[in-house]
Amino acid sequence: MEHKILVVEDSPVVLKVLKHLLSQKPGFLPVLCTCYKEAEEQLAKHDDFYAAIVDLNLPDAENGEIVDLVLDKKLPCVVLTGNFDDKLRLSLLNKGVLDYITKDSRYSFNHVIKVIERLKKNKDIKVLVAEDSITSRHFIKHLLEQYRFQVIEAENGQEALAQLEADDEIRMLITDFNMPLVNGYELVRMLRYNSRFQDLVIIGLSAEGDSSLSAKFIKSGANDFLKKPFYHEEFHCRVVHNLEAQEMLETIRDLANLDALTKLYNRRYLFEEGEKFYRKSANAKAGASVVMLDIDHFKSKNDAYGHVVGDVLIESVAQAIKVAFPNYLASRFGGEEFCVIANCSGEELIKELNDFLQTLRELELTEAKIKLTCSIGVCGLAGKTFEEAIGIADDHLYEAKRLGRDQVVGV
Ligand code: GH3
Ligand code: MG
Ligand code: MG
Ligand code: MG
Repeated sequence: MEHKILVVEDSPVVLKVLKHLLSQKPGFLPVLCTCYKEAEEQLAKHDDFYAAIVDLNLPDAENGEIVDLVLDKKLPCVVLTGNFDDKLRLSLLNKGVLDYITKDSRYSFNHVIKVIERLKKNKDIKVLVAEDSITSRHFIKHLLEQYRFQVIEAENGQEALAQLEADDEIRMLITDFNMPLVNGYELVRMLRYNSRFQDLVIIGLSAEGDSSLSAKFIKSGANDFLKKPFYHEEFHCRVVHNLEAQEMLETIRDLANLDALTKLYNRRYLFEEGEKFYRKSANAKAGASVVMLDIDHFKSKNDAYGHVVGDVLIESVAQAIKVAFPNYLASRFGGEEFCVIANCSGEELIKELNDFLQTLRELELTEAKIKLTCSIGVCGLAGKTFEEAIGIADDHLYEAKRLGRDQVVGV
């Protein structure tokens, strides 16, 4: 989906730069206007603008009237201006503009694009605001919604905890300190004690006059804190910096743990975390299984269609594995070979694997409608170590190959 961005600017050079920068980013469609009147017409014509970038001084609206026009339409608004003073800054922020940027270097324009891109990412990010004061909670909600975050609310620490436990899509928590039932500090401690919440970004709000609270929040595991009262600019900077740091961490973790081609877990991850998953499952009632999958006669496909197509085929099989076994730990073992650890064993799993083979048989991959099959070896025996189970599954895989491929062997 394309996001329409209204750009209102009378300088042709600035307009050209913004158009160029926006069109370099996928998913944005700049709509260019050179005066207030044109912007008014565009806004009357379309009701699906995503955000606006506006110049404060336009030939037919010299005193920032464009800002009110855009804000009236509830559009996130970034302001461009030639000169700046504190009074203007305050008046713009109080009106509710997202950011203001002086047109003094080409870096300023990159900053504008960054703000707009952030809006697009924010709409998929759910934030929980835990705060007992309704006024303050609604103020924070309003600030977050200006930046297009999805916002949910909790009146106290206990409610916040319940919501976080029930909804694993919450990415960030903004929490007050003084709250009934469970206070912010206790809430953060409880969350950080649970490994499930290690990636949750937490920002504590501490009241004026108690400087020890900020340290307490950080020590208990919060990423950052804000002292009340705060300015919307500072609030936004902290929210974005902490989210970006978390996103960077996740990228680094993915680079270390995922296979670059298929985005399945890599071999290193399999032998570290997969082993733990296997052990934990093996100790549970449903048991554990190791499944080895290998694409049949893949070399001939590579020879016939080339390596690039070969890569696409490997990716497609990996995707099919992801879809078929979302709750198991799937990895690329190497080449055209995959390993799946299932937290169960027995007939049901064998049936799932046979269904997977059937799905694969029916797929026609790439424009050349290439058909593939796979052979599968399974070890669901109790009392085996992870390494032993891999060895047994591998033996069964070779038995499946020997018996004519495209089948499951093992227990
Ligand atoms: P079998 O049914 O016995 O498994 O036959 P096969 O041809 O699939 O097995 P073999 O082990 O002889 O060949 C596997 C081929 O997979 C050889 C190698 O060139 C190819 N391969 C391994 N990794 C990649 C990769 O990342 N990309 C591509 N395109 N090919 C790969
Ligand atoms: Mg409070
Ligand atoms: Mg093979
Ligand atoms: Mg192989």
